Amino acid sequence: MAEESYDHLIRDDEDFVQHGNYIRQNPVCAKLAANAEAYPYASASCIEQIANAGEGACATGRRAAILRMDWAELKDSAAGCTACRLHEKRTQAVFGVGDQNADWLFVGEGPGADEDAKGEPFVGQAGKLLDNMLAAIQLKRGKNVYIANVVKCRPPGNRNPEQDEAAACEPYLTRQIELIQPKLIVALGKVAAQQLLATQSAVGSLRGQLHNHRGIPLIVTYHPAYLLRNLPDKAKAWEDLCFAVSTMNGLMAQQQADQQ
Ligand code: SF4
Repeated sequence: MAEESYDHLIRDDEDFVQHGNYIRQNPVCAKLAANAEAYPYASASCIEQIANAGEGACATGRRAAILRMDWAELKDSAAGCTACRLHEKRTQAVFGVGDQNADWLFVGEGPGADEDAKGEPFVGQAGKLLDNMLAAIQLKRGKNVYIANVVKCRPPGNRNPEQDEAAACEPYLTRQIELIQPKLIVALGKVAAQQLLATQSAVGSLRGQLHNHRGIPLIVTYHPAYLLRNLPDKAKAWEDLCFAVSTMNGLMAQQQADQQ
């Protein structure tokens, strides 16, 4: 009987992923297969199924699987995801669009009807306004800018995503942020701000401050769809964009100073 214990207390998600990787490589180390995915009795061969499993699957395992994915796997996984009820009425998952190495990441709440039909975030009237907002600060969709949403599937009737839906979709946005490594995140509206900052505070009280999402500076402004209904608040959104630009300039200057 082995005297050594192989039990290990998993401390956090990172530890979970590390030990999962170690275990998956066991068949390779034992020369049972050329790569982990080729060994049919190990978890690596069914990782995609775990990632796409809905209720009843181990949420930690699903999250850990998603946090290991590359861009192609992540997009495929979201396209087939059934982890929350929003998949039932979507035309397609709306993954995100833009420069995968962008310094700027803009995050909205979820796809609307136009986005659901086209498969791209911010393509309706609100999308046009967002493009105009980007142009006002010399930015362009797809060029040093990535645009994503908190949930990848359209909430019916354009309602806000429910908390459990945002929680189910969180690993996708988290992985997108990890892969992009933006210098600055701009949260567009209440849902994105509250999700990324884990707060219940209103947009009005979150504006004008430099927040932090897992070490990445974050600024809050209004969602373009809200601005279309509340034109006077466009001036406040402009203040937020100017604040974002000056923050980005400061971050770039700091980076240059650090490199010298
Ligand atoms: S909203 Fe996110 S978690 Fe829900 S089904 Fe779509 S991709 Fe999956």
